Amino acid sequence: MVFREDGLPLQGMTGGNERPEFDFPKSWYDDGEEHVFYIEMGCNGMFGAARPSYQLHRCEVQVINWEARALYYDFWMIGDAARELNGATKYKAKEVANRIMDVFDETDEGSIAKCRAIAREYLGDNVDSDKVFKEEPGMSKYNAVYAVGNCHIDTAWLWDFDTSKTKVARSWSTQLRLIEKYPEYVFAASAGQHFKWLLDYYPDLYKRVKTAVMQGRFIVLGGSWVEHDTNLPCGESLIRQFLLGQRYFQNLFGFKSDIFWLPDSFGYSTQIPQICRLCDMPNFLTQKLSWNNINSFPENSFNWVGIDTSQVLVHMPPANTYTAAANFGDVKRSISGHHNLHNDQKGMLLYGMGDGGGGPTPEMVEKLRRIRGLADNARGEMPTVEVGCTVDDFYKKLREDTDNGAKLPTWRGELYLEYHRGTYTTQAKVKNFMRTVEILIRDLENLATKASVFNKKNYKYPHNEIEALWQDICLCQFHDVLPGSCIEKVYKEDVWPMLTKVIEKELIH
Ligand SMILES: [Zn+2]
Repeated sequence: MVFREDGLPLQGMTGGNERPEFDFPKSWYDDGEEHVFYIEMGCNGMFGAARPSYQLHRCEVQVINWEARALYYDFWMIGDAARELNGATKYKAKEVANRIMDVFDETDEGSIAKCRAIAREYLGDNVDSDKVFKEEPGMSKYNAVYAVGNCHIDTAWLWDFDTSKTKVARSWSTQLRLIEKYPEYVFAASAGQHFKWLLDYYPDLYKRVKTAVMQGRFIVLGGSWVEHDTNLPCGESLIRQFLLGQRYFQNLFGFKSDIFWLPDSFGYSTQIPQICRLCDMPNFLTQKLSWNNINSFPENSFNWVGIDTSQVLVHMPPANTYTAAANFGDVKRSISGHHNLHNDQKGMLLYGMGDGGGGPTPEMVEKLRRIRGLADNARGEMPTVEVGCTVDDFYKKLREDTDNGAKLPTWRGELYLEYHRGTYTTQAKVKNFMRTVEILIRDLENLATKASVFNKKNYKYPHNEIEALWQDICLCQFHDVLPGSCIEKVYKEDVWPMLTKVIEKELIH
């Protein structure tokens, strides 16, 4: 992570060509002054696995030829159109790409502008700015793709909780820079716990995030304390996830989320629709059922009906990922992979590096500008990709176009994931711990309530202490922790000691 001299985190960087660049802020080279910054380095791969050795191979200051880089994106997307489209539009893309190759001369910098002029024949005139998203959609207006930037940070998985605290700061500071650079860009993030870590460990960065939240560019959603498992926690825990999450968002930002955001969890309890409705969340997003290894889940936009007939509106992004690289094929699949287009013709695309966090890169936004630019030339074969819309915009439009969901199919009962079945039996100790803390905290709350009612003079209900215990319990219900899919270190060094402390405190109170 790159820090300003005063300690403010500015951006995360990742090796392996994933995010190797840091653009110096313009003010640094305008004022003629010396600027100091620090880089904190960790010796681990993106997914935690250690290698025998790590080396910093190169570190240099570069002056980028932005026009050359823009041509690289132009050519990439036109090449993808030539490969992935059909009919005349495919061959037009091929012809344009061939002409660019013929004109390009690596010894003549002037050829870059000539090549870009040819590229504009296919991409349109507006791909160098957010203007491209203001163009009339033309032929492809019936199949819109709403692209939403996100970074799925697993609260623990192949790394521990402490590492996730830095992942939050690295990922979100990076996203603030993208928000500054691209006026159309919005980013979505979930989990009360992640915001609490940011506030506790990086308070200055939190202030900047809050400003972006208030500007509508950094979208807070999800409503739960962490993106939790829904099959193993007891009913009370499921409620507490939302109670803690929604209340925390309300305190920090003055609003609650109206969508339960759970792209990656291993199956979904049929209690969820009822709980969501009671917590003011009529919408639900997941993607994981596309991992089914036997039956393909039949719908992408549908109503999910729970035990008591409460229902929520569900969308499962048809590109079958929450970490798309915003490639041409990802946008195309967001319509072509949609199983019930006969009900509604729109899909959401979740793009940005994830699992280990990170989020979108400038390259992804540049690609989306070009994919939008060429949509009209692709004559309805490519959807109109929208960037700058929020998740809320998507669900509002979905309700508007489907008579508030009445035109969509209905799914009753559990959303069962035909995969990851070992999650009920793996790491049995954490399951045992969880049930113990859940039973004890019920007793503790019960006794504390009675004591505060019958002994008002001498006993004050320990609200803050009990809330802190619930925060730790809910944290350990994260969708890799409780199901048992984390590395051993997470259980030995984080979860077992944390839950042991919770038990001790529950017994002392
Ligand atoms: Zn995950």
